[in-house]
Amino acid sequence: MNYKKFRHKKSLGQHFLIDKNIVKKIVKIADIQAAENVWEIGAGKGILTEELVNADSKLTVFEVDKTLFPHLEEKFGDKITLVKQDVLKANWQKLLEGRKIKIVANLPYQITSPFLFRVASFSENISLVVVMIQKEVAQRINAKTGSKDYGILSLKMQFYFDVSYQFTVKPHLFFPQPKVESAVISMMPRKNKPEIKDEKLFWKIVETAFRNRRKMLRNNLKTILSSDLIEKIAESFDLTRRGETFSESEFLDLYHKIVSLLP
Ligand code: SAM
Repeated sequence: MNYKKFRHKKSLGQHFLIDKNIVKKIVKIADIQAAENVWEIGAGKGILTEELVNADSKLTVFEVDKTLFPHLEEKFGDKITLVKQDVLKANWQKLLEGRKIKIVANLPYQITSPFLFRVASFSENISLVVVMIQKEVAQRINAKTGSKDYGILSLKMQFYFDVSYQFTVKPHLFFPQPKVESAVISMMPRKNKPEIKDEKLFWKIVETAFRNRRKMLRNNLKTILSSDLIEKIAESFDLTRRGETFSESEFLDLYHKIVSLLP
């Protein structure tokens, strides 16, 4: 591949790592065992792919930029399974076939949130996630209840995973340089994840509570619950608070209260 001719596509978040030490640090955190199933999202020119192949992983690599395919095929051949598809459009159920995987990636930043929400919905198939994302998003994922960064992304990722902020990465370690700092985070499925009968309802309540951040919880809940029900809930919860001040355990209490009141 003629590197000089390659045009980096901003729309695909193509900020390629140029520092091997960062790549090695990422792979070390991933602690890959021989023949372990690993997914890499967005191979780019393959700097991280190479290290993952060297770690003896059973590697599935997603890439959407077709101009990179010939280079990746030539460089890695059958050492990787190249999925030439948008990772968000791929059929994860089918590709996983019930297997457990590790996810290791320098993520294209424009897909970070939808990608992580997808990861959360497949948490039972995941043993570890090590991803580079924008530092600001890493801080949001790690945020504590009530802080300015706290939101549904924090709540959801911390519900399914133990999140660790690993290290910050400066823009000059990429080409082309991004405008903002990046960070590597790792996420391990949480061992003491709360057991909930109806997770769909739980997340519906949470999403509703966060829908309009400035509104009191009472007003947000009005969109999914009857006034009668809200008045009953208000007997044991202060619904004048905003949803963003509710911790996970308070949301769990709220969920259980709602379930107990539903016909
Ligand atoms: N892993 C390489 C590195 O560290 O240098 C490249 C990382 S670059 C930040 C993100 C890569 O993801 C790009 O190669 C881009 O083409 C690819 N990409 C962008 N959107 C994607 C998507 N929806 N599915 C799969 N790959 C995608």
